[in-house]
Amino acid sequence: MTENRERVVVVGAGLAGSLAALYLARRGYQVDVYERRPDPRSALASPEGRSINLGLSARGMRALDEVGLLADVLKRSVPMRGRVVHAPDGTVRFQPYGVREHEILHSVLREELISVVVDAAEAEPAVRFHFGHRLVRLDRDTATVEVVPTDGGEPVRVHADLVVGADGVFSTVRQQMQHGLRADYAQEFLPWGYKELTIPVGADGEPRVRLEALHVWPGHEALMVAHPNVDGSLTCSLFMAHEGPVSFAALDTPQAVRDFFDRHFPDAGDLMPALVDEMAAHPVGHLVTVRTAPWRHADRVVLVGDAAHAVYPFYGQGMNSSFEDCLVLDSCLAAHPDRTAALAAYEAARKPHTDVLADLSTANFADLRDRVHRIGYTASATADRI
Ligand code: FAD
Repeated sequence: MTENRERVVVVGAGLAGSLAALYLARRGYQVDVYERRPDPRSALASPEGRSINLGLSARGMRALDEVGLLADVLKRSVPMRGRVVHAPDGTVRFQPYGVREHEILHSVLREELISVVVDAAEAEPAVRFHFGHRLVRLDRDTATVEVVPTDGGEPVRVHADLVVGADGVFSTVRQQMQHGLRADYAQEFLPWGYKELTIPVGADGEPRVRLEALHVWPGHEALMVAHPNVDGSLTCSLFMAHEGPVSFAALDTPQAVRDFFDRHFPDAGDLMPALVDEMAAHPVGHLVTVRTAPWRHADRVVLVGDAAHAVYPFYGQGMNSSFEDCLVLDSCLAAHPDRTAALAAYEAARKPHTDVLADLSTANFADLRDRVHRIGYTASATADRI
């Protein structure tokens, strides 16, 4: 029976929104999730067929375990027991993260992970997903949203008891919740961006490099990390400046790409047969930090995930902390029958941690860029960061 349940609208069916929907349904709410994109499980969702992987660590694993999803996710992941640091002279050094199971990271494709979470949320009778629906308006005092079908249909107004803003770094819920109120908001773009590239399996079907590790090519002007996939390939993220003498903009010919890799990552170029084509075809992503407050309005609206705290990816904890938000929000709703108090307790519990995470993520960028490079590739590795 679901008719007497309080109603939640979750905006965004990314990692945070989908997991929040599952937690909230199990907490007794009727949940409608509005997502502007197509269903992430359909081919339409990733038309260019690109894969992005994420490093899952203890915090994210705990949040998945609490709702019974961890075993399924780990089956689709590759353990990363340490990092392999590649020096420009071609030498490599393995740095273990730790010896205990919780001290290793797990590499998982975003598409696989989101499918597991959306499937589990959708299996709850109280959850309905509405893909292809963009939120355009929020009335924060009445928890009413207006969503527009992306296929051109008529706008729909939906009234709820609580709106969860899980709509990512450029959150519309956040903007409209905070509009005209005393709110802090700081957004910082890194001058560097990123591009996804691939190290496919070798001609013999075997991985081209050690699989159960995160591979790191540090560097002052550009750096690259590669996560392993279950099929033996690796997905690389190349980070460098958007513009300038050594930048994505400067790599505008096949020869410029080859010269760049020969100079900066000589052992990597040989592992990437489609390098030149991928460099030309794949877009450059932006890297953004967002700090903001408040994360909530009365008992009506609350933010989770990147909508509340986007960080640079160099600590590998953005998704993990987004998952942790869902766990903590749920425990605050359990502990406080008054929802205003529950949302206040959630923000008070989470914000100090995510503020520190933003600092650590910026510091680890400098570490990967400068320190690991300078001190001979021997900086220590720990399992709570890449
Ligand atoms: P998102 O994943 O951005 O989801 C937001 C959703 O809201 C989207 O589906 C969007 O379509 C939808 N939406 C937006 N606006 C609207 C609207 N108006 N109406 C309806 N829907 C809307 N984190 C880790 O923990 N480990 C890693 O190894 C890691 N690596 C990373 C590498 C890179 C290069 C980057 C960029 C990030 C990485 N992260 C990592 C961070 C991680 O990807 C994010 O923290 C995580 O995806 C945040 O999830 P989210 O659900 O809050 O936001």
